[in-house]
Amino acid sequence: MQILREEHVDTQALAGRRIAILGYGSQGHAHALNLRDSGCDVRVGLRPRSARWDEALSAGLRVMAPADAAAEASLVMMLVPDTEARTVYEQFVRETLTPGKALYFAHGFNVHFEFITPPNDVDVALVAPKSPGHRLRELFVEGAGVPGLIAVHQNATGRARSDALAYAHALGCTRAGVIETSFAEETETDLFGEQAVLCGGVTALVQAGFETLVDAGYQPEMAYFECLHELKLIVDLMYQGGLTYMRHSISDTAEYGDYTAGPRLVTEETRNTMRVILKEIQSGDFARAWMAEQASGGKQFEAHRNGASSLRIEHVGRELREMMPFLKARARA
Ligand code: NDP
Ligand code: MG
Repeated sequence: MQILREEHVDTQALAGRRIAILGYGSQGHAHALNLRDSGCDVRVGLRPRSARWDEALSAGLRVMAPADAAAEASLVMMLVPDTEARTVYEQFVRETLTPGKALYFAHGFNVHFEFITPPNDVDVALVAPKSPGHRLRELFVEGAGVPGLIAVHQNATGRARSDALAYAHALGCTRAGVIETSFAEETETDLFGEQAVLCGGVTALVQAGFETLVDAGYQPEMAYFECLHELKLIVDLMYQGGLTYMRHSISDTAEYGDYTAGPRLVTEETRNTMRVILKEIQSGDFARAWMAEQASGGKQFEAHRNGASSLRIEHVGRELREMMPFLKARARA
């Protein structure tokens, strides 16, 4: 795998290009500001009633309706939520995509699963910084950068790849390093990671551990500390130095129990389920089910949300976090 850095960038690739950033949320504000500070010609497309309109204006950006921004630009970056992208594309962007223009995304979901099918005479690329938008902006201002991914879905002009790399460079990503991927790989690994490990896997494991201790008669507060609160300490070590560094930092007793218990929990059956989940992602079944759920009003999603937030671990956690105001927990309203 090649890591792309500053020396691989055609720094003139975006010279004179009019860039529209649609959306001014987590990613949108960071892209707009970093690109502007890198000398790019940026305009932000927002709904006229957007609460973020004034924020973008006072940051010194040009702000206009999404359709105007897209029409004016030759490169349009879609930074609205993935569940809204298709509507935004159909309402404001599709008609403006004349031959030779470029349509960019920060996640491959809508293009890979064909919820958005751009005309074949435009470039379609992905530039995905590997961090939340606020971190992307913060590090850029400090003179550093977050790693990024680029991918090309359609190369109508012949310069899609070098333009995407130049865009990642303007975001500050080449200061860390940029990796080339495909829309399929970015989308499928992203969905799998969040379902099997980061979100679905971890929350289910935490909840099951908590309930096992409580059902065995231990105090819920103790179970909360051991199964949820301390997770961050372990994850921070893994983040800094991988699994070996984490195991080096914990006690030998913890490390021995890690080796003997872990494989009994994540068994061949669990791995088979992971493969089933991956198949559902690859086939598009997950994506279609999720979009259908949204289209039909999101009732099941809401029911999941309500069920999950009323679990005992959540009540116990809310009380315990009162003791720890330094956590600055932001509870959902
Ligand atoms: P946000 O939820 O933060 O984006 C919200 C913005 O989208 C707001 O400005 C909002 O406008 C606008 N918007 C929402 N709906 C519409 C609509 N129907 N019409 C016009 N504008 C609309 O999104 P993110 O920044 O989280 O995500 C953007 C993209 O970046 C996604 O593809 C995501 O997968 C990707 N990404 C996100 C990362 C992250 O850390 N968040 C990391 C890497 C990639 P208004 O102000 O009017 O509400
Ligand atoms: Mg991800």
